[in-house]
Amino acid sequence: MVSKNSEGTPKWKSNGNNHPQNLRRQLIVQQRKSLPIASVEKRLLEEVRKHDILIIVGETGSGKTTQLPQFLCNGGFCRDGKVIGITQPRRVAAVTVAKRVAEECEVELGQKVGYSIRFDDTTSATTRIKYMTDGLLLREALLDPLLSRYSVVIVDEAHERTVHTDVLLGLLKGVQLARSLEGRKDANSVPLKEANNVQNRVSLKPCQGSKLSPLKLIIMSASLDARGFSEYFGGAKAVHIQGRQYPVDILYTHHAEPDYVDAALITIFQIHMNEGPGDILVFLTGQEEIESVEKLIHERVQKLPESSLRLSVVPIFSSLPSEKQMLAFKPALSGTRKVILATNIAETSVTIPGIKYVIDPGLVKARSYNHRTGMESLIITPISKAQALQRSGRAGREGPGKCFRLYQESEFAKLVDSTTPEIKRCNLANVILQLKALGVDDIMGFDFMEKPSRTAIANSLEQLFLLGALTDDYKLSDPVGSQMARLPLDPIYSKALIVASEFNCLEEMLISVAMLSAESMFYTPRDKLDEARDARKCFTSVDGDHLTLVSVYRASAECLEKSRLAGSKDKKAEKTLNKWCRENFINSRSLKHARDIHSQIRGHVEQMGLHITSCGDDMLQFRRCLAASFFLNAALKQHDGSYRALASSQTVQIHPSSVLFRAKPECIVVYQMSSILYFGIKRVVISHLGKGGKKNQQIK
Ligand code: ADP
Ligand code: MG
Repeated sequence: MVSKNSEGTPKWKSNGNNHPQNLRRQLIVQQRKSLPIASVEKRLLEEVRKHDILIIVGETGSGKTTQLPQFLCNGGFCRDGKVIGITQPRRVAAVTVAKRVAEECEVELGQKVGYSIRFDDTTSATTRIKYMTDGLLLREALLDPLLSRYSVVIVDEAHERTVHTDVLLGLLKGVQLARSLEGRKDANSVPLKEANNVQNRVSLKPCQGSKLSPLKLIIMSASLDARGFSEYFGGAKAVHIQGRQYPVDILYTHHAEPDYVDAALITIFQIHMNEGPGDILVFLTGQEEIESVEKLIHERVQKLPESSLRLSVVPIFSSLPSEKQMLAFKPALSGTRKVILATNIAETSVTIPGIKYVIDPGLVKARSYNHRTGMESLIITPISKAQALQRSGRAGREGPGKCFRLYQESEFAKLVDSTTPEIKRCNLANVILQLKALGVDDIMGFDFMEKPSRTAIANSLEQLFLLGALTDDYKLSDPVGSQMARLPLDPIYSKALIVASEFNCLEEMLISVAMLSAESMFYTPRDKLDEARDARKCFTSVDGDHLTLVSVYRASAECLEKSRLAGSKDKKAEKTLNKWCRENFINSRSLKHARDIHSQIRGHVEQMGLHITSCGDDMLQFRRCLAASFFLNAALKQHDGSYRALASSQTVQIHPSSVLFRAKPECIVVYQMSSILYFGIKRVVISHLGKGGKKNQQIK
């Protein structure tokens, strides 16, 4: 019976179903039910129970990344506190997918569902579904060689074949065998050679009391060379999930496009003026290209008729602070079409809500390694067919979509099927250091799916030897090598921290490394170029970019301290700091990130027992330390003002954003060897070694 109020009119009470949050929940439930993977839940669970290794191939958007871990968790694989680990090649994918799955499970992020990426861990003791980067799982294996917390490890987007994925696959193979030996408890019956192999790969610690269940391993991707993976895993079963969620119309150009950036711009506006509602995702090759296209769109938007739909531009690339990256995932305002300008960071795994149109120029900036010179660079190259498929797949995730490929169909046919694995085109020092720390001494004998070349391995071993991480017989040195492996940093950075404690400038080096590990610290709005330049001058150190960053960090710490001394609580002090950042054109998110990284690395360094002292005003001491740790990256000035890298003899050039761009000192160290190949000349950000640079360089 309907109750009535005092005026006799009926009183209505809503059941809450129309509350926006409830509507969203219902929508998510419906969406999940309609995913192709939903109809094969039982079968997949059976297959996982039956097989220790399973290869799952399914179209993009079929629900692999978000649903399978939930099926497994509901199917009993999280019993006894065990965790399901899902690795992603990219941080942004790990973060956004974890957020989505937490929402689907109606739990707070960090409880049952969480993510863990370098310098950012949201997981807790209650986490059962853990998304992470493949590099992070490798690090975990250092502390827990049998990965004993995991019941299942899913290697997602395996087709990307990042260097970490490849190493992880080899490692997981060993871990799985080792765990099955543990489980059988009759290891003697396993052929000796097989057992030895495992011992070689994984430094097994005796299992503490409890019997480990076998590790289930799932290799997953949309566009996967299933046969290759199956062969690598000794004929493992491959399951194909049929059906994609929504169709994507693929369109090619009639003629070859001489200027893909211009073609992309024209296509953006053609879609905007002629196609129905829906956001646009454009794949470009890098930050600079994205920023210049953003500017061009803003210019052309001015010429659009007033009545047309508004256009908002959102960039996303890896060096963008993560909070800014997340803007791409926010829905567009009503009456606005969103154009996302992305690098291949948005190519796999992620679902960007609202995307209906994809523009794919067919190019990517990829790592390339010159074995002769030992230099790594980024080169713009055509994508593979697998990448083209992934890109078009971003359009059909919430409804039918369209993908505009800015090349001819005949060009598509010429693309290689899949990208050359990264392990074949990168510097291996980091990976080798980790493998050595995991007890894998024979790198050539490691069970890689595709072996890197002998020269690449030899070069990286030599580099590690020169850094003092390896002994004469290429074993991990103690304590330097093992200390370097414990730090979650590039070997050169790790070495810099260890050396800095001897040079009494660890305080400065910790700040430098933290600041260099965060995203770009300075920002320069187009309409405030002069103000930004003036603000930056206050921090500029004649000694180079490293000490300039140290000045920024210290000034920010001083501002925070002052605010706290004046009685501000944490939140208010943060606000004061943000204001300071705005006034000084410092990226506050990057600075916050650098502070987090600083405190984490500081923790590692303290645990290692290194002395954190400051060199005060003795900058020569700091520069000596730079020379002693970054000596592999030193470059000398040439007559024509360019620089020659000492190790590789390559010509390099100072980036205009460096404080040393004009000063041009005699000898510099490059902070990053992975520089950008730009018209054949490498561009670098640097610190100089001062007048005594050449001499300093020999201090080791
Ligand atoms: P797959 O891994 O097979 O490519 P996913 O599991 O990542 O597929 O996603 C399946 C579907 O779930 C997507 O097509 C999309 O409809 C939905 N989805 C996933 N993540 C999100 C998100 N962050 N926001 C909205 N929808 C999402
Ligand atoms: Mg996926």
